[in-house]
Amino acid sequence: MNADLHCHSTVSDGFLTPTEVVHRAVANGVELLALTDHDELGGLGEARQTAEAAGLAFVDGVEVSVTWKLETVHIVGLGVDPADPGLQAGLATVRSGRDERARQMADGLAKAGIHGVLEGARQLAGNPAMVSRAHFARHLVKTGLMPNVQTVFHHYLVRGKPGFVEHEWASLEDAVGWIRDAGGVAVVAHPARCRLSEAELLGLFDRFRDLGGEAIEVVSGAHDAASIDRFARIARRYGFLASRASDFHGAQESPVDLGRAPPLPPDLTPVWTALS
Ligand code: AMP
Ligand code: MN
Ligand code: MN
Ligand code: MN
Repeated sequence: MNADLHCHSTVSDGFLTPTEVVHRAVANGVELLALTDHDELGGLGEARQTAEAAGLAFVDGVEVSVTWKLETVHIVGLGVDPADPGLQAGLATVRSGRDERARQMADGLAKAGIHGVLEGARQLAGNPAMVSRAHFARHLVKTGLMPNVQTVFHHYLVRGKPGFVEHEWASLEDAVGWIRDAGGVAVVAHPARCRLSEAELLGLFDRFRDLGGEAIEVVSGAHDAASIDRFARIARRYGFLASRASDFHGAQESPVDLGRAPPLPPDLTPVWTALS
């Protein structure tokens, strides 16, 4: 099964509209697709309609920004009901902090002599409520400050750098609760990218499982072969379902295209067995 259960559209920080994401997935041979915009459900109606017209099986998804032990962790919800009022209200709260955060990021960059970034980032954002660090990074590449978004993140947008602002996203309890109450399966996204020690990561998995979290991304566009192996072992130990995902944002930025992540290790139980 060519399942791709994590990607982004212009409704958050992807480059393609929901319709374009679906068409690209079909062209790449994807058989089951979830759109998982950051803290947003707004692209799901269009994506589902396009997928149904194209004969592609589609899963309603979301990627919730969470703060765990002062670090950001992303929790994907799969098979959520986009009309669920609790999920909608929760995500609205998470999004509401972004505007002020973006101002503070721009203030920090201005102090470092880089001006006009807020306006530039906003122009690149398809959704004014979802200005992300990715839009800041793309703007700073566009102005010629840095050659690519990775170097912008490294020099300007991570902790300790001028454009970084500490921010409190949703709690793990809330995020898993919203997803489950909306009928979805909660998945820890790209765990190799969590900036947590091994002990902290295991603490996260313990708590996540206690809260009713059921799956982790074993295969992600952000995982190398060693990470796939590491998180396959963790999935076995915890009894987690395994997800497979590109985390595709756009061809110009993403290392792995839609549907092109490696297959899941064959002994793991795929998360899509739990999606109706
Ligand atoms: P935010 O939610 O505003 O903190 O932005 C996070 C987004 O920035 C992620 O979803 C990625 O799309 C992007 N991102 C984070 N770290 C990096 C990085 N090191 N290089 C490129 N993009 C990144
Ligand atoms: Mn992103
Ligand atoms: Mn993420
Ligand atoms: Mn993502």
